[in-house]
Amino acid sequence: MGAAREIFTNKINDWAQMYLNENIYVILDKTFYYNYGLETIAIATDCNEIPEQISDWFNETLNELGLMWEDLPWPLLAFLHEAGHSQTLNKYSNEELQRHYYEKLFISWDSRYTRKEKQMTYWRVEDELAANTWAVNFANTNTKAIEELTIIFMTYWNDLIEEVYKC
Ligand SMILES: [Zn+2]
Repeated sequence: MGAAREIFTNKINDWAQMYLNENIYVILDKTFYYNYGLETIAIATDCNEIPEQISDWFNETLNELGLMWEDLPWPLLAFLHEAGHSQTLNKYSNEELQRHYYEKLFISWDSRYTRKEKQMTYWRVEDELAANTWAVNFANTNTKAIEELTIIFMTYWNDLIEEVYKC
């Protein structure tokens, strides 16, 4: 494991244990996701997975929901979204989660939507909206946690990207 990867992973896991819960484990992977069964949050470190437009649309979505912080970096917001899943998915039954899954699938198939509309509609499906609402509320009410998280991303993110994907 490279130095930047190890430092970032340690820092972000310390943060998650302190502010989310002790069972959460954060890993680096190709895409952002939350694995419900394993309680694992994955952070995408593949630069191709982070197109600029999507981060603009995501900011727009969180601002509509009342995010008071400005200029938080995209990977931090995406991480908070997955953290939001880790704190909200347990309120849904398997049937409800299945329904959300199919809703998202149908959105991705619907040719009437533009790419932006697809993405914005996806983030409004009930479980995604719950994750986003959690992220916004958390950020607006946990100044210290967000400051610490911002430092982690600002200090180690670029080294990490350079080390892992050379982009
Ligand atoms: Zn999500």
